[in-house]
Amino acid sequence: MTTLTVCAPLRVEARALRRGLDAAQDTSEVRVVRTGYGPARAAAAMEQIAAAGPEALAVGGVAGGLTDDLRVGDLVVATEVTDAGGTAGGATISCPSAPLLAGELRRAGLTVRTGRLATVAHLVRHGQHAALAVAGAIAVDMESAPLLAGAGGRPVVVLRAISDTPAHPLVSPHTVTGGIAALRSLREAAPVLARWAAAVGPRQVLLASPRSFCAGVERAIEIVELALEQHGPPVYVRKQIVHNATVVAELEQAGAIFVDELSEVPDGANVVFSAHGVSPEVRQDAARRGLDPIDATCPLVAKVHAEARRYAADGYLVALIGHAGHEETEGTMGEAPASMALVEKPEDVAGLQPADPAKVAYLMQTTLAADEASAVVDAITERYPAATGPGTADICYATTNRQQAVRAIAARSDLVLVAGSANSSNSVRLVETAERAGTRAYLVDSAEDIQLGWLAGASTIGIAAGASAPPAIVGQIVAALGGLGGVTTEEVVVATESVQFGLPKELRQADDRAVLTRKTVSS
Ligand code: SF4
Repeated sequence: MTTLTVCAPLRVEARALRRGLDAAQDTSEVRVVRTGYGPARAAAAMEQIAAAGPEALAVGGVAGGLTDDLRVGDLVVATEVTDAGGTAGGATISCPSAPLLAGELRRAGLTVRTGRLATVAHLVRHGQHAALAVAGAIAVDMESAPLLAGAGGRPVVVLRAISDTPAHPLVSPHTVTGGIAALRSLREAAPVLARWAAAVGPRQVLLASPRSFCAGVERAIEIVELALEQHGPPVYVRKQIVHNATVVAELEQAGAIFVDELSEVPDGANVVFSAHGVSPEVRQDAARRGLDPIDATCPLVAKVHAEARRYAADGYLVALIGHAGHEETEGTMGEAPASMALVEKPEDVAGLQPADPAKVAYLMQTTLAADEASAVVDAITERYPAATGPGTADICYATTNRQQAVRAIAARSDLVLVAGSANSSNSVRLVETAERAGTRAYLVDSAEDIQLGWLAGASTIGIAAGASAPPAIVGQIVAALGGLGGVTTEEVVVATESVQFGLPKELRQADDRAVLTRKTVSS
């Protein structure tokens, strides 16, 4: 088990942390050391602490809050500590595993903020608080920078509980109650420090390649960005443009408004249809409303729509293999509702009722797992030997490649983490693919979603990402794991992708004009 030393400046802070750690399941390798108040004592104490050779260090104590949204008793996990007092060389030291600790604290029901912590040399007054906040810090203390500066590259985290805020300053009638609330939070948070220490250790990370954005997702995001650029905000988007919480949040910040139905779009507004496609009924509704939608439907989804129309026009019953309730299947089914039936699993084939058993066709959602879809195709062709369809070719290149890549890393990993949102079909299929390969796998929207318990004993971790997950999230996960000890990374490449899709005509023409204008202005 990792040896952890928890550094607490004051006696009361050390006592609160010890009490909390005593309540943890296994604290045998955790030591709480009182380091003394202020940067000079902290630096001196750290020399002795480091000499004792702990494998991991945590700084725990109270701090002053600098931003209006912090309340006394809130916890702050430092993503970086800046030496604002200049007592430890003036450096800014990062704490890469902060998201892992913060996520675990939140799951324990505690209120946590992450951000920059400033260490100062003397108690600061109100005006100095404001200056530190403007410089980007959310909390202030007097010991963390020298403690981290002496950590010698060991994994470190800084956990502070807020005892005073701009609304409740340090010297005020709230001083005592603020201190009590902060110490209570520290005590409640302390067991999570032991869990963090149990996850510490060097690791190998296998990166599945290809991973993250596919051509259809890149195109859909670009369409919203261009629509915002050309028309100005707001731009309405029917449904999530792609199934990823980070992408949606970033586009919302830029001025996109996501709605479930066209009825929520005001007359005359600009509206985009998502990458998952829409049924003809939605298009007709838009036309009736006089809206002029920009269509971000992935061309590979549009291809399946065209196949559905063709088979239905030729008198076939079309079995669509896919998941009920998914926007893509709803859109495709809408192409010929009277001639189509959704089939989720082999047993559903018995419920098909073709007018002519010789005229059965099948199609599928683009983001299915190939082996699952094949089982349904087998059930269809067994019951209807004349059934026709694309094999598993409707499953798009991006889904296929990512599933192959996740199989390749799962075979060599103790644990697979898949970056993606819970409503992302292709991301969920990646988790299932890794599990079918016999490896534990979890879906995470961000590094904060990684549970520390998953990591204990996992020395090789595979990381994959669904086609709608931004590549930056994989970088954040690798950085967070690196904060637990050294990480060596290996790209496991099963395919290279060069697919690109063009933009819709209306955006392309306007964008070409804009490029021309930019060139004219700059020449
Ligand atoms: S996952 Fe496949 S079908 Fe879906 S947007 Fe990407 S390329 Fe298109």
